[in-house]
Amino acid sequence: QLKNKTAVITGSTSGIGLGIARELARAGADIVLNSFTDSDDDHALAASVAEEFGVGARYIRADMSKGDECRALIAQAGVCDILVNNAGIQHVAPVDEFPVEKWDAIIAINLTSAFHTIASALPMMRKAGWGRVVNIASAHGLTASPYKSAYIAAKHGIVGLSKTVALETAEEPITCNAICPGYVLTPLVEAQIPDTMKEYGMNREDVIANVMLKRQPSKQFATVEQMGGTTVFLCSSAADQITGTTISVDGGWTAL
Ligand code: NAD
Repeated sequence: QLKNKTAVITGSTSGIGLGIARELARAGADIVLNSFTDSDDDHALAASVAEEFGVGARYIRADMSKGDECRALIAQAGVCDILVNNAGIQHVAPVDEFPVEKWDAIIAINLTSAFHTIASALPMMRKAGWGRVVNIASAHGLTASPYKSAYIAAKHGIVGLSKTVALETAEEPITCNAICPGYVLTPLVEAQIPDTMKEYGMNREDVIANVMLKRQPSKQFATVEQMGGTTVFLCSSAADQITGTTISVDGGWTAL
């Protein structure tokens, strides 16, 4: 269904980005994986996606905290029919103690990188006569929680950016939307469990049940495969008129 389309997924060597890359590959798209590490494992991962799904797959290193590298990623890909802005980091601290360098890094990686990749990819989509931009926001793009000021500011920002790009491309065969996941058990979420344990004075099990999944009425983590399936849907013809909106995959979080 996505044969002859090339998808660039930022931050896609683990977690949600890799899950999305795999589902796009399953649907037939050629894949560009990205992270900032450029290890043998990264290139081997691209080779394994190519082999498993019978598609083209490459790894391109680019640090999403640097605007010129974001733009170079798209230039190096050469073609970008589907752009998934997924790279993201988190830091948990009260706003008056929030480290300035963490704030700057979160805004750069979680928000500004998407501005750069979108600006670089849109001319390619226009030339190809078709394009899809899928931004991975968060339930925290629509609601807030304490101690995540930078992340929540960036995620609300990416929802706004998605709407604006949708309006600027509304008359073209290009759409731009944001997926808003609830909690998905990935390395990013694993890493914030210790800090959250400290903030709330709880053990691991209590943080999972009473802080994380407390907000998720389904009481289940969402999965990376579900994020991939939602992305494939947004790339299907059924979604041609879906643009400038958010799709929550959050077990009911934002219904509360
Ligand atoms: P993850 O830590 O597993 O993956 C993040 C990816 O981003 C990694 O591949 C990492 O290499 C990459 N990355 C980080 N900094 C980068 C940089 N400077 N340049 C290039 N790549 C970089 O995290 P995840 O949970 O899979 O998160 C992916 C996205 O989904 C993020 O935007 C996150 O905010 C969002 N999200 C996650 C959850 C969740 O519960 N896991 C919920 C809502 C939204």
